[in-house]
Amino acid sequence: MPQAKSVKKAAPVDKDIQIVVAGAGGFIGGSLCGYFKNKGFARIRAVDKKPLANWYQRVPGVECLSLDLSFEENCKRAVEGAAEIYQLAADMGGMGFIERFRIECLRSVLINTHMIESAYKAGCERYFYSSSACVYNTDLQKDPKVTALKEADAYPAMAERGYGWEKLISEMFCQEYWAERGMKTFIARFHNVYGPWGTWDGGREKAPAALSRKIIQAIDDGSQTIQIWGDGTRTRSFMYIDDCVKGIDLITHCDDLIATPINLGTSELVTVNELVSIIEKIAGVTIRRNYDLTAPQGVHGRNSDNAFIRKVLNWEPKTPLRVGLKKTYDWIRGQFYLRKAGHRTVTD
Ligand code: NAD
Repeated sequence: MPQAKSVKKAAPVDKDIQIVVAGAGGFIGGSLCGYFKNKGFARIRAVDKKPLANWYQRVPGVECLSLDLSFEENCKRAVEGAAEIYQLAADMGGMGFIERFRIECLRSVLINTHMIESAYKAGCERYFYSSSACVYNTDLQKDPKVTALKEADAYPAMAERGYGWEKLISEMFCQEYWAERGMKTFIARFHNVYGPWGTWDGGREKAPAALSRKIIQAIDDGSQTIQIWGDGTRTRSFMYIDDCVKGIDLITHCDDLIATPINLGTSELVTVNELVSIIEKIAGVTIRRNYDLTAPQGVHGRNSDNAFIRKVLNWEPKTPLRVGLKKTYDWIRGQFYLRKAGHRTVTD
């Protein structure tokens, strides 16, 4: 793996620099724009291929461009004058999406190829890339009592087919643009992010949002029954969105982490059944659980080993699942009844 050429802490950031957030019409990108705006950054450009009307969030005072970043000329336009670029655009979703649409996932390599080259040519000072825990060797994730995954566990590689391999190759681009060309790149491997303004319906949603929605629906229609994908014993950790955007900022401004992939997730491991129980408590109900053993389920167990992030940043994502899920559940409930009342919601 290429070594960082120099290791020194980043200087304080000038609030007038041009920031570009790619994939800003989606969940994390939209929240990242809000985070930087709240920190006082004046020049933020948000880019996504979706028409502006379909963006999950549009932050006032942020320049918004609708561009398909799988084309090089659009990437060049997107990154004009950018000092910092946050690359979060990808064709992605929860297990139901990434197991079914591997070609779409692989094609995100076009976005990553053109974005990093355009960033380099534009003289970008810091380039952040959103990788995933799906890069980890699937052979290490066959037991629900999984040993938490540390950064070295991605190699020898046996990533999640499609989505995980694309992420691994795009990580390598980041490492080589530093090693060969000296552009500072930063790579976080996100572990399941959830929170308000995330996808909550339509086939791309992840477990916390899907289960919240199903429970809200079961209460609303009186069935008091939900269908769970798998037998409920698979384990995961889930990171609240506020921790995710703060982590992105900290990682991108730590020169000890140049071209060095790092876990960004919590180490609070839960089974799917435990996740349902937490949501039941928030909703104040007990639900009948039917298990669909034919549904997509992903690896048996996955958790984030946070030893490295604690050591380098003296920080790790800490929002307890109960706290983050309460905010998420309330937001999804709001979306559900907005739709029921005939209004458009984030995922419509
Ligand atoms: P999201 O689907 O909500 O956002 C991604 C955005 O990228 C979408 O708005 C989409 O329209 C946009 N996009 C797709 N193709 C594009 C293209 N060709 N040009 C421009 N924009 C395009 O997903 P998210 O949850 O916000 O994820 C953001 C990033 O984090 C992705 O790279 C994803 O792979 C990564 N990630 C997310 C999670 C998670 O739990 N949400 C976990 C691991 C990694």
